[in-house]
Amino acid sequence: RIAGPSALVIFGVTGDLSRRKLMPAVYDLANRGLLPPSFALVGFARREWSDRDFADTVRDAVKEHSRTRFDEERWERLAEGIRFIEGSFDDDDAFDRLTTTLAELDRERGTDGNHAFYLAIPPNSFPTVLNQLKRTGLAAPGTDGSWQRVIIEKPFGHDLESAKELNTLVNSVFPEESVFRIDHYLGKETVQNILALRFANQLFEPLWSSHYIDHVQITMAEDIGLGGRAGYYDGIGAARDVIQNHLLQLLALIAMEEPISFSPRELQVEKIKVLMSTRNLLPIDENSARGRYGPGWQGSEPVPGLLDEGFRADSTTETYAAIAVEVDTRRWAGVPFYLRTGKRLGRRVTEIALIFKRAPHLPFDDSMTAELGQNALVIRVQPDEGVTLRFGSKVPSTGMEVRDVNMDFSYGEAFTVSSPEAYERLLLDVLLDEPSLFPVNEEVELSWQILDPVLAEWATEGAPETYDAGTWGPADADKMMERTGRTWRRP
Ligand code: NAP
Repeated sequence: RIAGPSALVIFGVTGDLSRRKLMPAVYDLANRGLLPPSFALVGFARREWSDRDFADTVRDAVKEHSRTRFDEERWERLAEGIRFIEGSFDDDDAFDRLTTTLAELDRERGTDGNHAFYLAIPPNSFPTVLNQLKRTGLAAPGTDGSWQRVIIEKPFGHDLESAKELNTLVNSVFPEESVFRIDHYLGKETVQNILALRFANQLFEPLWSSHYIDHVQITMAEDIGLGGRAGYYDGIGAARDVIQNHLLQLLALIAMEEPISFSPRELQVEKIKVLMSTRNLLPIDENSARGRYGPGWQGSEPVPGLLDEGFRADSTTETYAAIAVEVDTRRWAGVPFYLRTGKRLGRRVTEIALIFKRAPHLPFDDSMTAELGQNALVIRVQPDEGVTLRFGSKVPSTGMEVRDVNMDFSYGEAFTVSSPEAYERLLLDVLLDEPSLFPVNEEVELSWQILDPVLAEWATEGAPETYDAGTWGPADADKMMERTGRTWRRP
């Protein structure tokens, strides 16, 4: 579907997110013919830029990061609708100019009063910008059926209390159905494929329960460190940055019941049920782990530890976090879900691994199955997108030795069309009013409710344990698994 007439306003348009993700996504949508000819893009930041300067910046960002081939004609059409508003968020004049500019675009370019406001800004600026949108009347839907929507980026608060405050603030300006919270993981093809894999096939669903599954491991590992983002990251840490949003959303999709339909509301209902029934395994200190990276090796390159990257030595912020939870339902009773994320780990990889119970009986000598592990279904979210099924197979020989083998499905090989970038999909969904892939306020609050007790426990401990860069995290994380007789996967 093609978006209808509309303008996208990006606050914080000179920032990193906008340059790397948002501008290229807008162009790629235009290039694929998914934006209407009347579409307009309005940038807002403090830079002293003309419309022309801004258009040149968008063009540079597009050339550097776009996924589609640059088309001069399409670009020119998009560029005619590009405007820039210079100003600070507390500058009433700048917001009045924004109001005038949008009114002109509505009249002259035909954006018809439909506006989406993207807050690509530091969270402490949310109240100022939201209040400006309220003051100017820009947040109010038109009496002619025109719409106003707001798009916000994580972090959605710092804990349950601040998340509630943020939701109250946002909902005092925009009704919940006009709020689109970006969790870019949900825009990924492989994440949406979880639902196809589970509910379009007969093969997997009968096995999808405590009857056959021993435990689930959800991993998002990064090989990069903090780089220049040390200041931003201090006080946030891996659990707030990744587990609260991306990993708990993946858990919800893996553990949810079949929705009645794929309507946004039905999907939400099922995800909310999972989050409502998710509990931390106790005691929390034995069922969680955290760490921060020291110097080490990434491949054959030596890499610095975070303290050499300007991180505050007395900070207790973690760059690695692991938690163990269970989903308290008949389907999942007794199945632990292990969620972990970290920076400067062995490899960049995001995957969900369902580890099956061992066969109840093996009619082989122990020596024949010495190399046989547990069956596993691994959904590879990134970078090598696909699905792997691990099972035992006979080793070719005259004997009966059984060893693990992998059966692989790879997106790149099975489909010739490349998947759209997550931000492309999500931006188009906002313009189309398709909210399925956006967490609602209740999901955000439930996720904090799960994480808050872990953060409270960690707050009573000192600095996190140091792990060597390039490894798979702190020794504490291994101990947490060893206590249950399990081990982390090494993807
Ligand atoms: P950034 O590089 O620091 O950019 C911040 C933007 O906000 C700049 O354009 C800056 O513009 C503008 N800004 C800040 N204070 C302002 C003020 N008082 N008045 C007007 N403009 C102001 O941040 P970012 O990395 O793009 O991230 C933006 C938001 O997305 C953050 O909340 C971040 O947590 C979230 N996020 C980012 C990423 C990512 O990949 N970068 C991923 C997930 C979430 P000027 O200084 O030019 O005026």
